[in-house]
Amino acid sequence: MCQKNILIAGLGLIGGSLARTIKSGHPDYHLAAYNRSQAPREFAIQEQLVDQVSDDFAALAVQADVIILNFPVQLSIQFLEILAQLPLKENVLISDSGSTKQEIVAAAEQLFEGKPIRFVGGHPMAGSHKTGIIASDALLFENAYYILTPSALSTAADVEALQALLKDTRAKFVTLSPEAHDAMTAVTSHFPHVVAASLVDNAYDFSQQLPFTVNLAAGGFRDMTRIAESSPDMWTEILMSNPAHIVGQIDHFSQKLATIKQLILGQSREEIWQFFEHARDFRTQMPIHKGAMVNFYDLFISVPDQSDVIHDVLGYFAGHELSIINIKINETRVDVNGVLQITFKTEHDRATAYRLIKENATYEVCN
Ligand code: NAD
Repeated sequence: MCQKNILIAGLGLIGGSLARTIKSGHPDYHLAAYNRSQAPREFAIQEQLVDQVSDDFAALAVQADVIILNFPVQLSIQFLEILAQLPLKENVLISDSGSTKQEIVAAAEQLFEGKPIRFVGGHPMAGSHKTGIIASDALLFENAYYILTPSALSTAADVEALQALLKDTRAKFVTLSPEAHDAMTAVTSHFPHVVAASLVDNAYDFSQQLPFTVNLAAGGFRDMTRIAESSPDMWTEILMSNPAHIVGQIDHFSQKLATIKQLILGQSREEIWQFFEHARDFRTQMPIHKGAMVNFYDLFISVPDQSDVIHDVLGYFAGHELSIINIKINETRVDVNGVLQITFKTEHDRATAYRLIKENATYEVCN
């Protein structure tokens, strides 16, 4: 790859994390960053994430061989409009990190038609509930899917060039059409966020009459609604940017609810059992069950309900420097065994933890 001047536009969680990985993978490249506000620019320089920062987007853009836009999608399109007016370097490669792809790829194809500009959409499918450069992490994308969406402005070589630039993300690169990306993420991400927020809203409605309802929201409700705490800014953007596929999901799901409603009204015990059995069966086959769709590796340990159990389990790991992301107890019922779920950053750490628990305790453990 011959690009030397890289511009990271937008130093938030994603832009900051990409800067960290590009810097470590290509220390000889000149890495510049645009950010509107000053604090992230100062942070990026202090932490040596980039070589140069500025709030003058145009001045950096005309110098760049590669530009990666890391804004909400609508804002990225506005930055594409600015780029279309600038005397950019010939064959500059432009990408983005937005969560939807059809809209931005269509905008790029229209704005840059006939120009010597290459555009490949990008979506690193890893994130955090935190925002901003302070939360940026060089390991954020490790083992996560990084979707690349070619356009009429790109060739296979451009996709490869972008992958080479981003190699230190250690992400799993997948090339999809923008349409396929938006259709699939509507199913697995966008629509579930709508459902999660709707479930919480539903509980709110009921709690107006029966305030004690909220106290009964335990493990199942919590697991189903964790993502309802995500950023309203980001999710409003995503719904605005992928309407057809999300509305399609709402229609499809409404039919599913209508079907199960009829089964309940008809007291159709066997069909209701089949409904749950089919879902359970398919979920156990999904890669998510093994943590393969995200960069997390879970270990599930059946533990008794004792106050020192977490302390004991962590004690087995002492001296092994395992990278733990999260620990939680999935309670089944009060006063019975719970399942301790420990989330590791790498498969190696999960396997080591599995071995250590097997060597030191009699708990049932599964991946
Ligand atoms: P963030 O809030 O951490 O950063 C957003 C960036 O946009 C900041 O640099 C901010 O300064 C800039 N910005 C916002 N409004 C601006 C304006 N009017 N003018 C100039 N700059 C402005 O967000 P993020 O999580 O880094 O998200 C960036 C993109 O990545 C979004 O398109 C998001 O959908 C996508 N994405 C996010 C995640 C995630 O989980 N956070 C995961 C994958 C992709």
